Amino acid sequence: MAMQVHHHQFDALVVGGGGAGLMAALYASRHVRTAVISKLYPTRSHTGTAQGGIGAALGNLEEDRWEWHAFDTVKGGDYLTDQKAAKVLAQEAIEAVIELEWMGLPFDRNPDGTISQRRFGGHTNNETKKPVRRACHSADRTGHMILQTLYQNCIKEDVKFFDEYQVVDLLMNDKTAVGVVAVNIDTGDLHVFHAKAITFATGGWGRLWWTTSNAHSLTGDGPAITWRNGIPLQDMEFYQFHPTGLYPLGVLITEGVRGEGGVLINAKGERFMERYAPTIKDLASRDVVSRSIYLEIMAGNGIKGKPYVHLDVRPETVNRYLAEAGESRRIDADYVLQKLPDILDFCRTYAGVDPVKDPIPVAPTAHYAMGGIPTDIDAHVIWNGQEEPVLGLYAAGEVACVSVHGANRLGTNSLTDLIVFGRKAGLQMADYCRQVGFTDLPPNPTERIEAELSRIRSNKGKVKAYDIRKQMRQLMMDKVGVFRVQDMMQEAVDGIRQLKEQYRTELAIDDDGYRFNTDLLEAWELGCMLDLAEITAVSALERKESRGAHSRDDYPERDDEKYLAHTMAYPQEDGQIVIKYDRPVDLSLGYEPKERVY
Ligand SMILES: Cc1cc2nc3c(=O)[nH]c(=O)nc-3n(C[C@H](O)[C@H](O)[C@H](O)COP(=O)(O)OP(=O)(O)OC[C@H]3O[C@@H](n4cnc5c(N)ncnc54)[C@H](O)[C@@H]3O)c2cc1C
Repeated sequence: MAMQVHHHQFDALVVGGGGAGLMAALYASRHVRTAVISKLYPTRSHTGTAQGGIGAALGNLEEDRWEWHAFDTVKGGDYLTDQKAAKVLAQEAIEAVIELEWMGLPFDRNPDGTISQRRFGGHTNNETKKPVRRACHSADRTGHMILQTLYQNCIKEDVKFFDEYQVVDLLMNDKTAVGVVAVNIDTGDLHVFHAKAITFATGGWGRLWWTTSNAHSLTGDGPAITWRNGIPLQDMEFYQFHPTGLYPLGVLITEGVRGEGGVLINAKGERFMERYAPTIKDLASRDVVSRSIYLEIMAGNGIKGKPYVHLDVRPETVNRYLAEAGESRRIDADYVLQKLPDILDFCRTYAGVDPVKDPIPVAPTAHYAMGGIPTDIDAHVIWNGQEEPVLGLYAAGEVACVSVHGANRLGTNSLTDLIVFGRKAGLQMADYCRQVGFTDLPPNPTERIEAELSRIRSNKGKVKAYDIRKQMRQLMMDKVGVFRVQDMMQEAVDGIRQLKEQYRTELAIDDDGYRFNTDLLEAWELGCMLDLAEITAVSALERKESRGAHSRDDYPERDDEKYLAHTMAYPQEDGQIVIKYDRPVDLSLGYEPKERVY
């Protein structure tokens, strides 16, 4: 049966209905005809699971400055952060959070009516070096509130939504982006969208790893699609493991638990972060805490000999440490319930543990992609390290690499990134659409994807997608995880290449229908994940130093002589990956790389 093809035309298209996509759509739609295409119903996007908060130096509870926020972002990113991007993030965060408040977002409040703020890892007062309250939050449901608020505002602006449409290809005319092809998941029909400007905001790809905090839908479709169209991927080896995933599932337990005073404890009852980060302790940046937890586990200090430690937010424990630190604040069970209601719920449901009475079992979980589709600070996608723009193409949110998070993202900075750079993408698209006409679509826009989908449908092999997926996720977890060495990463590259071959020749699906054929679409998503797994492992293998989330036992030091540059992975016609370090790190705020002291 031939696939039905439908045609649409919009000025601006946004692929992805998470925080970044909705912010871009909201801003573009005020000026030009805008549509959002999303494989999930937008309010089910992963942004809705963000718990702890959105960072902005409002200084509502104590002194804070955007300069400190920018510096923390650079330092947290282990100096791979582009400093001009950190400046934009920290400066514009303040206005953006207040804008969200005016749009109707119900933030937690202080008694004087201002937005409540709490501590989060790596956010400090640069003078005293002590943690500062910078995370604006709505209990532990901050992302949910952001997503609902933005969705309602998009509806108000008449943004056209194509919900449960999965984008499977990008259409280019020479070097200009001119549209996308999507599958209507309900009918299986193909839809061609012709546009002047397109923003990719498809989120992250945590499903590459075995243990992850990421939702099932986070399979990296966006970057795989742009890659297949000749666009490079930047800093892919920098993938963040969040220290506190609920053991053994990996469900996220927000850093907000430690922000409220929770502490990490090993089998000996020690608060071990005092040893690894004497000043900032449990609120050190995520790469440091994740590595410390693994070192404790490897030293035999895992709870009951198992690969996890305890996160203790019981009021009596928190109050003891608050008193020791000379703080007057005390908490009780009601306070924990009010500040962390969802966390209490997850722990009770998924681990049978009540955090007010028992410590929470936690271990690191694959969480966030610092790398992605390279953009400039206006969210414009670029072809290379010389910043040559891909006309008509933008990217924002987790899928993009601005690079504002460098080698390691600070907690609360992703939500800020979505709002600040999502808005830039929207404004830039609107500007561009008003200047240019439509560029023609290629002659047969669905040819390539029809061939790929019918290949998957008609393959007569015996291997199932879940089998290949399982092996890929295990390989990535064991060999391209928190600790890395040359041989293991080489094994990962070889293993992934074998899985890719198997995917091409032996994969078979069971469902040959058209309506809601998730079997077909999940097999297609696996192809995207295998591409990204290979690029991640190759990028990691090439970078022979330790920096941020990329920690190598064979090269334990950071090497600023050789590697103070972004990793650019370039796709080749023959399927090879070429790695270059041809995009220098921007140091324009003058923060020179320094030793890391905590
Ligand atoms: C559990 C959890 C808690 C977090 N907590 C925090 C926090 O407290 N603070 C913070 O700053 N950050 C937090 N983060 C990180 C942050 O939430 C994410 O990085 C951010 O929400 C990503 O937003 P996004 O808009 O880029 O993508 P997402 O919200 O992931 O949205 C992606 C969108 O793309 C669409 N899409 C994907 N592929 C396709 C396709 N092929 N075709 C069509 N549509 C497609 C999806 O339908 C979806 O709408 C957390 C992350 C997790 C997983």
